[in-house]
Amino acid sequence: MADMASLLIKNGTVLDPSQVFERRVDLFVQDGKITGLGGHLPKADRTIDATGCLVMPGLIDMHVHLREPGDEEEETIASGCAAAVAGGFTGVVCMPNTKPPLDNEGQITFVIREAQQVNLCYVWPTGAITKGREGKELAEMGSMLEQGAIAFTDDGVGVADAAVMRKSLQYARMFDAMIMQHCEEQSLSGGAMNAGLMATKLGLPGIAPEAEELMIARDLLLNRGIGCRYHVQHISTAGAVNLVRQAKRDGQRVTSEATPHHLLLTDECCRTYDTNYKMSPPLRTGADVKAVIDGVKDGTIDVLATDHAPHLAEEKEHEFPYAPNGIIGLECALPLYVKALVEPGHIAWMKLVELMSTRPAQVLGLKKGTLQQGADADIAIIDPQREWTVDPGQFKSKSRNCPFAGWKMKGRVMATVVGGEVKYELAR
Ligand SMILES: [Zn+2]
Ligand SMILES: [Zn+2]
Repeated sequence: MADMASLLIKNGTVLDPSQVFERRVDLFVQDGKITGLGGHLPKADRTIDATGCLVMPGLIDMHVHLREPGDEEEETIASGCAAAVAGGFTGVVCMPNTKPPLDNEGQITFVIREAQQVNLCYVWPTGAITKGREGKELAEMGSMLEQGAIAFTDDGVGVADAAVMRKSLQYARMFDAMIMQHCEEQSLSGGAMNAGLMATKLGLPGIAPEAEELMIARDLLLNRGIGCRYHVQHISTAGAVNLVRQAKRDGQRVTSEATPHHLLLTDECCRTYDTNYKMSPPLRTGADVKAVIDGVKDGTIDVLATDHAPHLAEEKEHEFPYAPNGIIGLECALPLYVKALVEPGHIAWMKLVELMSTRPAQVLGLKKGTLQQGADADIAIIDPQREWTVDPGQFKSKSRNCPFAGWKMKGRVMATVVGGEVKYELAR
């Protein structure tokens, strides 16, 4: 019955980067597809009044940790998907560092089936590059691809061994699959925050920017003659941005993503010893933040993701060096990016939506991120003027590790439509 329903989204401003379309028109959805944009539209089973709102293709987050299987007290596929749609996301790519890891076809099938049961948004699982994410032996990429793995990564760690990495690039190239890398040279990792003046002052062990840059440089070199689709996860240093920029100029197949925290926070935040400022890669300097913003502006950075990483409060309450890395991000990513990029005038809304929807769909090879006639009706309705204060206590996510608590935001998700069905609506 639900799939026969029609939906009319009225009086909003439709913003679609895939057709560089920005106009105040109504949008009609029938049987899960977009069937009308402007003009005379028929009556619908359901109407949403989007006056004052932006109507955009649903956001796609290509870096999310859903923690299931293994850490269901931190997040589940169900709670993570609820958080996603509350943040305007209609699809997420989940990381394989679960317990056990997603390193075989059975695990990929489990995630896809569970997400279908939950039926809130699309979940595209990544498979591990190596068995057990141990960096030694390649996982069965071919059979994971067949079961629906969208890309491969050992996220949480990078693939340390150069020979294993070369093999994985060669192997993935045969299937034209994408390798995504958590770029961190192991022999330089192990610190708690960015290496530098601040770490010295605080007496905390540092992680040098070179840890990230070395692995990117190595991978780009390895991939030069292979030409695999290679994606740099959570880029965070000025040097890393330069490496990717240069590789793109050289015509290499490389893409990259940024996170909200690497655009808004610096290592100065660690001064409080609040472990919600502990991430991997760590918060860097103001100069790095500026370089990442420049990378977003000039297209070096293709995608804005979150690296949504739920952790239990009791885990995050450990002392700074011993606390786990990462923060949740799905439910405040959009307004955080507005604050970091749109409000200061670095980019326009059109570009923001491109980086959060149209471009990630392209990078992932998905027919998504568009409001063209006939496209899947995955839609986010955003009130760009609406102000609110971040209260992680209100989040759908099971975890609360968010350094943005109390931040004043502008821009709020009013509704999220997935496959023509309203999956989230802000309670009024
Ligand atoms: Zn990572
Ligand atoms: Zn991650």
